[in-house]
Amino acid sequence: MLLRLLLTLALIGALTWLWRNRRRQAPPAKPTEPSGEPMLRCAHCGLYIPQHLALTSGASSYCSQAHLQKGPSHSER
Ligand SMILES: [Zn+2]
Repeated sequence: MLLRLLLTLALIGALTWLWRNRRRQAPPAKPTEPSGEPMLRCAHCGLYIPQHLALTSGASSYCSQAHLQKGPSHSER
């Protein structure tokens, strides 16, 4: 009787462990999580863009090739 109880508990424990493991192995794909990656500000239009998308020229970053060619904006301030 006691052995059966222990086996049942062990089974429940194993199933719980498997369930947790499966949940951990299948993480939901998070769309554009702002974790870690620095955001850079376009020197022309002020748009914030992830570092891997930004175009850098010298010390300035730009959101697009067009803004990179236009250079930093002096109108804002
Ligand atoms: Zn821009």
